[in-house]
Amino acid sequence: TDIMSREIQLVSRPNGMPTAANFTIATTKLEPLLEGQVLVRNLYMSVDPYMRGRMSDRKSYVPPFALGKPLDGGAVGEVIDSRAKDFKQGDVVISSFGWREYFIAVPKALHLVSREIQPLSAYLGALGMTGMTAWAGLNLVEVKDGDVIFISGAAGAVGSVAGQLAKLRGCRVIGAAGSAEKVKFLQEECGYDLALNYKTSPILEQLNQAVPDGIDVYFDNVGGETLEAALSLLRIHGRIIACGGISGYNEESPQVGPSNLFNMITKRLTMKGLIVSDFLDLQNKFEQEVGRYFRDGKLKNKETVVVGIEQAVSAFIGLFAGKNIGKMVVKLD
Ligand code: NAP
Repeated sequence: TDIMSREIQLVSRPNGMPTAANFTIATTKLEPLLEGQVLVRNLYMSVDPYMRGRMSDRKSYVPPFALGKPLDGGAVGEVIDSRAKDFKQGDVVISSFGWREYFIAVPKALHLVSREIQPLSAYLGALGMTGMTAWAGLNLVEVKDGDVIFISGAAGAVGSVAGQLAKLRGCRVIGAAGSAEKVKFLQEECGYDLALNYKTSPILEQLNQAVPDGIDVYFDNVGGETLEAALSLLRIHGRIIACGGISGYNEESPQVGPSNLFNMITKRLTMKGLIVSDFLDLQNKFEQEVGRYFRDGKLKNKETVVVGIEQAVSAFIGLFAGKNIGKMVVKLD
């Protein structure tokens, strides 16, 4: 092929908050397509908070990004040429080859999805990795009818789906998010029973006032002060879904833990860590169950869309400033 593809590369590792200078945009020429390979043009790519961890040189459940190479991340693309028998032109696929316009892959790196779902970016949100995180998190601690659940990062990709799914399970749902507009979105569009703006006054004070009888479950997306407040609010035998800790992702040294961890003992709490990729064998079940809610109009896929690969870095950095409502996605034009 003569296809030139633009891609975003990491050129230096961020200290604290990433800046545009940590990244560059490069153009590469694609190799000719070999037997058994598929050529894909990305339509949408994902920017996600966990990518910040991969930008640092540390040991974790995913290796760090290499310098001078394209970043990786979730993407939805369209097959434009195929020399593999199970893929044809026009097929829609999910992959981990985001941050670039085109790529060549073998079938096992591609997950075929239906074109019927619109917009296709929903495969990065409610019907994709972040929606599956919400679903797997609720299953992890068996969230059920009657539970009072508090969700932080509530208006984001994971939080907005977690809250809607918890409502469908019959829970009372309380959320925390960082603006009046997000509070309105949670109450009016996601069915949250109550939403709090954690930026207006300390979240512990707001929760003590709003939920004096406490909570059964805390879905933690942010860590820090909010986790500490939840530990204080949880009832006996309460459960915590440890999903994320975005309030610490740009700290240069590790955050100090909650001062009230002793609540784990006195209230016999359970805290379970979640990594969504542990649940890939349940992906079809997730797609059926949550896909049905979506098609039936019971689940909204809210998203914030920016256009153009050259906007991807600022969209990514924007996650840490709360620029998104729902899933932050980059549409490639
Ligand atoms: P997201 O919530 O759509 O976007 C990030 C949001 O975090 C922002 O919109 C912002 O909203 C909030 N935020 C940023 N800085 C904050 C701070 N210092 N304190 C409190 N809130 C802050 O992102 P997402 O993709 O849904 O991910 C949410 C969390 O889940 C992240 O921690 C992520 O790492 C985690 N996650 C975990 C897994 C897993 O397998 N364990 C998978 C996916 C995601 P506000 O305006 O409300 O501040």
